Amino acid sequence: MVDTCATFVKMTSDQTLDVIVVGSCMTDLVSQAPRLPKAGETIHGHKFFIGFGGKGANQCVQAARLGADSAMVCMVGKDFFGDNYIQNFKDGGVCTDFVKQTSAAATGTASITLNDAGENAIVIVAGANLLLDSEDLKDVQPTLNRAKVLVCQLEINPQTSLTALRMAQQCGVKTIFNPAPAIPLMDQEFYTVSDVFCCNESEAELLTGRPVSSVEEARDAGQNLKARGCGAVIVTLGPKGCVVLRGEGSKHIPTAAVSAMDTTGAGDSFIGALAFYMARYPTMPLEEMATRANHVAAVSVQTLGAQTSYPFKKDLPAALF
Ligand code: ADP
Repeated sequence: MVDTCATFVKMTSDQTLDVIVVGSCMTDLVSQAPRLPKAGETIHGHKFFIGFGGKGANQCVQAARLGADSAMVCMVGKDFFGDNYIQNFKDGGVCTDFVKQTSAAATGTASITLNDAGENAIVIVAGANLLLDSEDLKDVQPTLNRAKVLVCQLEINPQTSLTALRMAQQCGVKTIFNPAPAIPLMDQEFYTVSDVFCCNESEAELLTGRPVSSVEEARDAGQNLKARGCGAVIVTLGPKGCVVLRGEGSKHIPTAAVSAMDTTGAGDSFIGALAFYMARYPTMPLEEMATRANHVAAVSVQTLGAQTSYPFKKDLPAALF
């Protein structure tokens, strides 16, 4: 249980949500310097900026930018970064009724140092993210009952994600599970509670113990993952698009060749878009949703940053809607 200082902004309406994301929020603290400091050394950098990250929040923000009525279920600290993140959600039209604040830990942060060669050193402190527990989901149940899609990842306590997925499955809400960052000994129930199990190449490798760098290898790994009980599997392949496996079939969905500037958060853009399509176009074939999600994510890689690079509906061709 979270400490008694946790606060909760009450749901103010009976609205039906398209997408609920139960997951992480991380504030990126990015310093650019000529080189990475050695142990014990202090050096001068030339630029600092704060960014909004965390896989869960990224996915939620992308879904909202495409027009999904979205809510984030997460835990941030009762601190400046937590307040700032809540404002970021509000600015993006994301429902914050289920964003809790705790004084028992700081908002999750990623302290990133980037050198001029483009290399980085990163320290992630998940902080408050790890304090969101299954008890905290009870308040979400009435809203979840009326939602269309639930999305979870593994940047929070895995048991909390599993509970959320189970709750969604029990009330007939479609689930997307993104096993990121992948953990080797993941509870097998994650497969059976996933309508769509969506991972990238390295996650597929870690979970199957097989190499995944080509379309054929992704197909093999995807078949292996699907046999564990998921409804469907999508393995994303960066510039090669993705492979979709459902029923007995599998299909490679290539993506347009673009000039990539920064692929940070591309997978989250893809999953946010997928959630949007599953919620708004429930009868659309999954392969078509993946084609469109490829398109959205390809736009995101052409601009710097994660959330800063995610396109809005107005920036995209009408044919995607
Ligand atoms: P992750 O960000 O989790 O590592 P991927 O690298 O597989 O995930 O990227 C997710 C999706 O983003 C891909 O399926 C594709 O649609 C898109 N994407 C990623 N990199 C590129 C790229 N260089 N060019 C075009 N699309 C890309």
